[in-house]
Amino acid sequence: MSGIYIHIPFCKQACHYCDFHFSTNMGKKEAMVSALIKELELRKEEFKEEELQTIYFGGGTPSVLNTAEINQIIGAVYSKYTVVSAPEITLEANPDDLSKEKIEELAKSPINRLSIGIQSFFEEDLKMMNRAHNSEEAEDCIVLAKNYFDNISIDLIYGIPVMTNERWIANIEKALAFGVPHISSYALTVEPKTALKTFIDKGLIPPVDDELAEVHFHILVQKLEAAGFINYEISNFGKPGYFSRNNTAYWQGKKYLGIGPSAHSYDGIRRGWNVNNNTKYLKAISQNELPMEVEVLSKTDRYNEYIMTGLRTIWGVSLERIKEEFGGEFHSYLLRQASKKIEDGLLYVEKEHLFVSPKGKFLSDGIAADLFLVNLS
Ligand code: SF4
Repeated sequence: MSGIYIHIPFCKQACHYCDFHFSTNMGKKEAMVSALIKELELRKEEFKEEELQTIYFGGGTPSVLNTAEINQIIGAVYSKYTVVSAPEITLEANPDDLSKEKIEELAKSPINRLSIGIQSFFEEDLKMMNRAHNSEEAEDCIVLAKNYFDNISIDLIYGIPVMTNERWIANIEKALAFGVPHISSYALTVEPKTALKTFIDKGLIPPVDDELAEVHFHILVQKLEAAGFINYEISNFGKPGYFSRNNTAYWQGKKYLGIGPSAHSYDGIRRGWNVNNNTKYLKAISQNELPMEVEVLSKTDRYNEYIMTGLRTIWGVSLERIKEEFGGEFHSYLLRQASKKIEDGLLYVEKEHLFVSPKGKFLSDGIAADLFLVNLS
């Protein structure tokens, strides 16, 4: 089981909170599509034994590509790799790109899952975050998309300083009313070197409040679970049958090939990451070089990653796997580190798996970090 991630490094405008890799200069879009196709060719040997279950267009904003460009890239994947008969093919899309015409075209393409960056249905939040769409576009694109796509996910952001609990509840209720089967929801985080950080430092925007984010998170879990969603990963909620196959494979440590500037790859042993600069990426690919750095993960790295991802998901951390794959020393260390948190009700063990309790869920990354190893191997 494996997948391909394709990073489309362009956005119409920079959202104030974003630190992903993208450029607002679309001048190199055509050259980028050709380079992505060439990288697919250059790396096909890496995945010659693999069957692709998922193809994922992320970004940046993949919906800035026209449908012909998207089809060209998917065609290149099919011609160079083995793809299962019913793959999940996701396109991240922003509401301002999803006109009726575009949705109709996409519905005729192999794309079978849309992940729409709604973030909020309210103008005030969207303006504060400098999103390229407005609240009307946020609503209209879901109504339109639902006519053509069954598998739709929307992204929502909570913990926004100007967002009251009432407005957060209204956001969730709108999402539920649209009947989408999957919701990804993240707390607003203040990343270094973003406009949001500058505005907060200058006192133009109130600081992000962790307590507000935690309240919003608990409201989210309560409302979505009551509506039949499963919180299968801290930030992801799906109706049965609608979990993201791409993300699930990633959390379960499956192999993936990351194509495009800043994309990461994992082959079970090594992690690679492409240069996060469009010009350098294009130049290297034009010279048949891979602009990638690679590190071999140590046993400790792999243990730490498994703890981090395992605790974020409903599948938990298998104590048996820890013992078999990492050995008794790691197993004993984990149980020792976990014991206090189990006593405090933040973690629990069931059927030989370690899970984060509802009380600990919002804090799961910090809890995982306390279970990490620094130097056993
Ligand atoms: S559209 Fe997405 S990738 Fe682009 S700036 Fe906004 S959050 Fe970042």
